[in-house]
Amino acid sequence: MSSMSDSANPFRINERVDGFLVRRITRLENLRSTAYELFHERTGARILHLHNADAENLFSVTFPTPPPDDTGVPHILEHSVLAGSRRYRVKDPFFEMVKCSMATFINAMTGSDYTVYPVASNVRQDFYNLAEVYWDAVFHPLLTEKTFQREGHHLEFTAKGDVAGDLIVKGIVYNEMKGARSNPEAKVYDLIEKNLWPDTPYGKDSGGDPEKIPDLSWKGLRDFHGRFYHPSNAYIFLYGDIPTSEHLRFLGPRLAEFGKTDVRPDLPPQPRWKQPRRLEDVYPVAPADPTDGKTFIVLNWLIGSGIDTRELFAFSALDRILLGSQSAPLRKALVDSKLGQDVTHSGFWANGVDTSFHVGLKGSEPERAEQVLKVVRDTLAQIAEHGISKEQFDAAVQQLKYRFLEITPSFPLHLMGYVIGMWQHGADPLTLLHAEEHIRKLNADFAAKPARRFADLIREKLLDNPHRLLLVVRPDREVQQRKDTEFAAKMRKLKDSLSPVQLQDIRKDQQELEALLNTPNSPEAIASLPQLKVGDLPPKPRHIPTSVEKLSGGPTLLNNDVFANGVNYLHVSFDLTGLPAELYPYLPLYGDCVQKMGAAGQDFVAIAQRVSGFTGGVAFSAGVTTAVDDPNRIVRHAVFATKFLDENVEQALAVVRDLVFELDPRDVPRLKDVLLQSRAYQRARPTSDGLGLALRHAARGMNLDGYFQEILGGIPQISLLEKITDAAPEPLLERIDAIRRFLLNRRRLTVSFTGSPSVAEVLRRRLGEWAAAMRDEAIAEASVDDFVPTAVPPREGLAAPMNVAYCAMAMPSAHISHPDGPRLAVASRLLSLGYVLEEVRFKGTAYGGGCSYNGAGRLWTFHSYRDPWVNRTLDVYASSLNHVKSADWSQGDVDRAIIGTAKEGERPIRPTQATGTALSRYLTGDTPQLREARHAAMLGVTLGDVRRVLIEQFERNAKGAAVCVVSSRQKLEEANSQRPEQALEINDILK
Ligand SMILES: [Zn+2]
Repeated sequence: MSSMSDSANPFRINERVDGFLVRRITRLENLRSTAYELFHERTGARILHLHNADAENLFSVTFPTPPPDDTGVPHILEHSVLAGSRRYRVKDPFFEMVKCSMATFINAMTGSDYTVYPVASNVRQDFYNLAEVYWDAVFHPLLTEKTFQREGHHLEFTAKGDVAGDLIVKGIVYNEMKGARSNPEAKVYDLIEKNLWPDTPYGKDSGGDPEKIPDLSWKGLRDFHGRFYHPSNAYIFLYGDIPTSEHLRFLGPRLAEFGKTDVRPDLPPQPRWKQPRRLEDVYPVAPADPTDGKTFIVLNWLIGSGIDTRELFAFSALDRILLGSQSAPLRKALVDSKLGQDVTHSGFWANGVDTSFHVGLKGSEPERAEQVLKVVRDTLAQIAEHGISKEQFDAAVQQLKYRFLEITPSFPLHLMGYVIGMWQHGADPLTLLHAEEHIRKLNADFAAKPARRFADLIREKLLDNPHRLLLVVRPDREVQQRKDTEFAAKMRKLKDSLSPVQLQDIRKDQQELEALLNTPNSPEAIASLPQLKVGDLPPKPRHIPTSVEKLSGGPTLLNNDVFANGVNYLHVSFDLTGLPAELYPYLPLYGDCVQKMGAAGQDFVAIAQRVSGFTGGVAFSAGVTTAVDDPNRIVRHAVFATKFLDENVEQALAVVRDLVFELDPRDVPRLKDVLLQSRAYQRARPTSDGLGLALRHAARGMNLDGYFQEILGGIPQISLLEKITDAAPEPLLERIDAIRRFLLNRRRLTVSFTGSPSVAEVLRRRLGEWAAAMRDEAIAEASVDDFVPTAVPPREGLAAPMNVAYCAMAMPSAHISHPDGPRLAVASRLLSLGYVLEEVRFKGTAYGGGCSYNGAGRLWTFHSYRDPWVNRTLDVYASSLNHVKSADWSQGDVDRAIIGTAKEGERPIRPTQATGTALSRYLTGDTPQLREARHAAMLGVTLGDVRRVLIEQFERNAKGAAVCVVSSRQKLEEANSQRPEQALEINDILK
């Protein structure tokens, strides 16, 4: 470790600068950064700045916030501080800043033992604006009672303001957590945390258990803030090219108004058990739902300390060895056992004081728990007996390297996560930034005793470890109804216990809350927020520096010049024009085969070993869109995507070649497993992806690409898996092979690459060989007649068990090439954040809501996320036109929307996304000239433009609009009974 300072930061260790003590300066060569660690002497605030040449600067404050109970106080506080502060008396500064800043990241997160507030921007003035608003929010929030009620919980009468109606509980976090609970996977995570750490804050629910949230008081919320949100409990992490001294000038005066408090967040380790435990619990399914094959069985162990790096890296490697690929022994043993459909909730967790290890199966039956336990124990015992091979170990280390070398899309945030995890638990914050050192030690440990290194760990930490929980979570048809009845009875009892005066008070509160929600922020309050001007924006969007090469034999190579730190990214794309209509639905399954089956005479185990040994994975996807300059040119392509380290280029390309040329799905028992896994995934989608399903379904009749999106990722995929999983395999085998044969035409081939120049050289040679081995056949003009969408019902409901709704509405819109494209982009942002979000989230207490314009898809959509309402939300969508006509928007509002839209073009270009983005820009003809023209047009959008394009959008296209709501049958039928004249046509998603 060397200690030096750079020219922009002339500090010395132990020097005092404006109240800060410089504690340590560390050069981090691999990150091209210098870490400055400082200590604010008056308050005890800790500061760490990772200074480097990156223009994306990040500011973050983290507070350890161990939850004292299950009321979700850390989570409700996280929401509430971002609802008005001393200097910024607006209801929702977070959303105002989302609207008007160039933030590349802005959010707040509640973890199991901490709360963090990060913001990032590429524009210096914007960065300090964001930091200032966040600082005021976390240290000086207003935390009014109304905010507490809105974000946390409050009572309402179902019939608006009528005390004769039923009492119900409402609140944004209350609602969010109720939605989260309707997902069985999330419920299983909760049960694991609650029961593996029962005697610590980790066993408490930092997010909030909907049944306990109403126990939190306003005072409880303010007390929690007073205790933990203090500089003495703050960890301030900064990243980027702004000099540290400038950050100190920002922080110094702001910290000066605080003293020191003695706040010690209590984060004790969990006392270890002497005996393993077993627990059975349930999750709700609808009364009519089948319950077979829907049980989760998860084995959980408490392992060791979260700051023991030797163990941390050993277990990170062991995780990948045991579970990291389709051929990994523990994963394979579980899948082969046929005791369930797929592995779930599995792996090594290191996000607290204690680390843990988990192995789970989903799609099982409760009575198989002991058998699952036996399979896991037998497999682990066998591995401990025979040891781990050098190849298995090397593959695991290769996988670990990506985690630490890769320049990920949100790179500063990624590093923040590494720093905070160690820092707030009292370890050296730079520990994980020296990952290469730890990987070297891991290699040395293994080399010293290859046979025993992991065998000892498996025995001591897993097989002989009594702190083990066997968790069985099965579906239950009655629990939801029982809970609903109990809750209704509780609310009735509560209501009966209240005096008429108290009932009137609730009514009054409800009305006041609604009135407050309906009062927009005053222009003065909005003006108090620091704002960028349109003139501060860069005149041109950022481009990816891509060179286009025509290789011998025909394929096109896009070479993207972006620093990638020794990791190489490759997208091999095939034009799908002319693919027979009946094969489109099978593209996702073909992709599953690419990831899970064998090839080139090798079985899936051998292929999986090569993939995990030499690459960061090989994925396949297919997409459909339109050309940017021509709405009538449909662009359809399939992509094999991979990444690999410099030293593995030959082996990585060889395995990609085998998968492209010689994919082999004929191992029928294995194929059956793959289908079962895909079916389990599809069955979970109503809860895991309800909004995605609703949006695709609503848009499927709009145009050709909407139709394809539905076929490739919508309801038809769920039905297809239900149909073919138990059918004879031959027709499927034939279709998979037909897709493979179809792709092997050199004229379909375009390749996008980001990485090292030496690797590019190898790639050119191999691509030439690949092209030579493919046929050379003209691509037939697209015949699209087979796909002409049929008329779809204008209002549909898709039913599945859940207790929230996802409401989508789609309508045709202008193509991106239309002069109104940039205007619609700005207008949709203004309407979304200024109206739909306000109505659906703030007044309707849905978790999210908005509208958006998709130029390539020629589509306008409205959406709500985890929504307690159906008709109310659809009314908001329908009344957009009236709102547009009467809204008193100013050019200032439009300018904020322009700034928000412009930031999409100002994202930092990281290698991970450059490869795919460069490819899609090339394929859709999105040239730098077109992007610059759209950017310039967007900067010039006026209030008149916005109003005109929105009125045209809704007046012209309302007739073609389609609604789709994903929710429970009960909720959908309830909506229909309130609105029979506009009933939704209801179908069950899973029949
Ligand atoms: Zn939340």
